[in-house]
Amino acid sequence: MVEFGHILQILYSNMANKKERSLVIVKPDGVQRSLIGEVVKRYEQVGLKLVGIKMIIPTEDQVEAHYMVNPDFKTNVGTKTIESYKKKGETPPTENPEEQGEFVLNGLKKYMVSGPVVVMCWEGLHVIDVVRKITGGTEPRTSDVGTIRGDYVLDSYQLADTDNRAVRNLIHASGNLEEAGKEIILWFDESELIDYRLVQEQILYDVNLDGILE
Ligand code: ADP
Ligand code: MG
Repeated sequence: MVEFGHILQILYSNMANKKERSLVIVKPDGVQRSLIGEVVKRYEQVGLKLVGIKMIIPTEDQVEAHYMVNPDFKTNVGTKTIESYKKKGETPPTENPEEQGEFVLNGLKKYMVSGPVVVMCWEGLHVIDVVRKITGGTEPRTSDVGTIRGDYVLDSYQLADTDNRAVRNLIHASGNLEEAGKEIILWFDESELIDYRLVQEQILYDVNLDGILE
């Protein structure tokens, strides 16, 4: 039963789906920088709908389960980091993606439990892509101007790796529909996610914009 929403997400992944869902976390640095409101505002103003929200202090086990919803997490994050170093003409700490990934996961386990985080579920058309676009690229050093990570923080792989910690980039946002489905189940009970209609959905999604003029 709990898996139902997740299965639906995957089933409809090739269709335009106004009820696509993404899991967003304002990480401990985002909460400490007093950016909860700013983050919510950015996703709200584009037309997305908040369907679940809570503040918690995660455990290391929850953090590990969260990132390992994708069994290739360590290899992926390691490869991405090594490529990023090389693109800038810098030397990565290791040439082994798995080793780099292990290091990142350990850093994340310390970072994410260091204080309260705000876990949110956002819903709307192309929500995964739209949230990632607004959030910006993983490394704040190169995140685009205008994105949350680009505008509010300045960390780098280089400093994080030198200081033996995770990159502080304010936010987690699901990478794809499959990850989102698994992450949402991890952080929310079905009863904590609310199905409701926002009046603005009529303007965003209805085929005909009728009923505006009296
Ligand atoms: P994203 O959060 O943009 O989806 P990833 O899934 O690749 O990025 O990585 C998860 C998180 O791990 C990042 O948000 C960041 O906090 C941290 N991280 C990624 N790469 C590194 C690295 N090389 N060193 C330290 N922390 C990292
Ligand atoms: Mg990710």
